[in-house]
Amino acid sequence: MLRVALVLAGDELCEGHRADGNGPWMAHELTVRGAFVTGLRACRDDVEPLARAVTDAAADAALVIVSGGLGPTEDDRTREALAIASGKPLVEHTDAFDAITAALSRRGIKPLMNHHRQATVPEGGRWLENVEGVAPGIACRVGDADVLALPGVPAELRAMFALHVLPLLGEGDVEERSAFAAGLGEPAVEQTIREPLEGHDVRVGFYPHHGEVEVRLFARGPGAAERVAAAHAVVVEALGPAAYEPPAGGRIEDVVVATLAARGLTVTTAESVTGGLIAEMLTRVSGSSDVLRAAWVSYGTEAKTRELGVTEALIAEHGVVSEAVAAAMAEGARARAGADAALATTGAAGPGAWQVPDGGEVPAGRVVVALAMAGQETVVKQLQVPASRAVVRRRAAVAALDLLRRGLQQEA
Ligand code: ATP
Ligand code: MG
Repeated sequence: MLRVALVLAGDELCEGHRADGNGPWMAHELTVRGAFVTGLRACRDDVEPLARAVTDAAADAALVIVSGGLGPTEDDRTREALAIASGKPLVEHTDAFDAITAALSRRGIKPLMNHHRQATVPEGGRWLENVEGVAPGIACRVGDADVLALPGVPAELRAMFALHVLPLLGEGDVEERSAFAAGLGEPAVEQTIREPLEGHDVRVGFYPHHGEVEVRLFARGPGAAERVAAAHAVVVEALGPAAYEPPAGGRIEDVVVATLAARGLTVTTAESVTGGLIAEMLTRVSGSSDVLRAAWVSYGTEAKTRELGVTEALIAEHGVVSEAVAAAMAEGARARAGADAALATTGAAGPGAWQVPDGGEVPAGRVVVALAMAGQETVVKQLQVPASRAVVRRRAAVAALDLLRRGLQQEA
């Protein structure tokens, strides 16, 4: 198994001015081809720290890939850092300079003095052709490791990765697959699947996303696909109704839209605390036009009465953030839209408790979601989310969608 370490050079990465995109991209490409990524290190464009980062990385990996810092200007220091790490002086390669000159002339530019710097590599090393840009890459040795330095510009890095790194990798006997759970917290998900998974030779990772928990199963080596498939079946069985599997890169809304579409069913939404977030999530999924009938943002109390027919008496009796009002919102929306199902939300997103105009107080993070469905009793769920406004709203939307997901599962 090839051990690979990634070093991402860039002041902008260390100052939070730009997020590193090259590291995660390379880590994924390497992992799916069976390499083991030992770590990602972001480092400033400073010679000494960069040299130390490469030396440390090389101590624990057979291949070190450095991204960035190969530009012609003085602030790009990867070459000098590699010279220190490899203990070799920089020497100019005339054919590298010719390649730079040719790449520049295609852009109508003449080479300057500082382009000679770009043609240097540590003695004994090689320069690597850049098919997308100007800056050549560098291949050299540091300790027992091969080091490849690639330009930081993402399009150039990807093209050069394909050219210079992919040939070093095998087919990759690796498999990954995720199961998702909603309605259970991360610790509960872990506890539910720990025992059933005992003896399964897979690595398990837990990734919570505001109300959804992704359980990622990963295996490498012979039988990886079979091991992951067996573990996945065990996880889904143990999680029971909490479990679902969105398409790759998808989430709960993808599952809900796909299930509604497959059954020819429609939905409508009546949102208060989520302010249209559920409708936004649903309409993000292509094909939602077949399933979403109408979407209300009945934010003000009087809109719940006027638009959805929730009676003033009910609101006065139970309060606007109550199971009775959430249920009445869902039932009112379903009847008005003529949909098979309706989701409703009401609550206080915070920060701070909400002083209801007609009296009473709703604590921040208190949310009630409801599902009304043809032929089923209306279901409500109350949550108390101790989090920021954005998270309360997101968790409320996911909780509502999960009611519908479960309702559809039950009906099946
Ligand atoms: P090169 O090695 O091609 O000269 P560089 O990093 O030296 O690349 P810069 O001018 O620093 O060149 O960066 C070029 C562009 O690529 C910038 O917009 C920079 O933010 C971006 N970039 C560099 N490294 C990364 C990274 N790890 N992730 C995302 N973008 C990056
Ligand atoms: Mg840079």
